[in-house]
Amino acid sequence: MPVFPVSHPFLRRFDRWATPALALVGLGLLLLETRHPLRRRTRPRPERWLRNAVLAAPSLPTARLTLLPAMVGLAQLAAPHYPARQLARLPAPVRLGLEVLVLDYLAYSWHRLLHAPLLWRLHRVHHNDLDMDLTTAWRFHFGEMLASIPYRAGLPALLGIRPATVLAYEAVFEACAAFHHSNWRLPLAVERRLVRVLVTPRAHGIHHSVVHRESQSNFGVVLTLWDSLHRTLRLNVPQQALTIGVPAYPDYAHQTVAQLLALPLAPSEPWVRPDGTVPARSAPAGPLEALIY
Ligand SMILES: [Zn+2]
Repeated sequence: MPVFPVSHPFLRRFDRWATPALALVGLGLLLLETRHPLRRRTRPRPERWLRNAVLAAPSLPTARLTLLPAMVGLAQLAAPHYPARQLARLPAPVRLGLEVLVLDYLAYSWHRLLHAPLLWRLHRVHHNDLDMDLTTAWRFHFGEMLASIPYRAGLPALLGIRPATVLAYEAVFEACAAFHHSNWRLPLAVERRLVRVLVTPRAHGIHHSVVHRESQSNFGVVLTLWDSLHRTLRLNVPQQALTIGVPAYPDYAHQTVAQLLALPLAPSEPWVRPDGTVPARSAPAGPLEALIY
């Protein structure tokens, strides 16, 4: 049984259905964030889009050719063993619900690990984008895709989660990542309701703040439940007060594709600006879990 079954029927189905659906979601979000922008842009879109597209050019195929096949291959290898056999005894809807919750918790905890020193070397390529919009959702170093294989494909397999569920969740994961990275200004009343369940553009914008404490919040991918449980939910920062990025990299001129691809080789930087100042915010604008404009 291959570990990376690149042409497995599940993956061909993913290509046939999930990929075009995700492209449509992306197109819809692009139109929405253009018509109803949330945060002011600091850079012209074409220059960032081009850079983000060039970074996505190796990372998306890397995900399709390694991470996604490993999700299927490793789950199939683990299927005859104990956890999967135990899960198979559960009623189908209970098993599916449990699998989805476990996968989303793994996505949350993996994202927290990405902010730990070693993996931050890779993840900061995503975070040092100076604005955040739909294209930020695809701006990942290809090394982050490879590094995620043991956690995002290996652990679900060890826990007995079925490959079809892992791939279906992956499609939802991608759609939610596109949504919460987008610069779409949802009506505040709608987003206040939505954020009780799902990670929203305002919530994830706070995660991309240059203020350290704010970047250490809102790690969730689909559900906000895990941030609530771990007390990492922070919604009380106005979007117009946010500066997006990593303080050590405020200069677009020092973010060429070559520099970004080589960034994982450099040690993690202290959370300060090049002039030594530390981005800070004096007083919170309201209760921690209250979403404000
Ligand atoms: Zn992050």
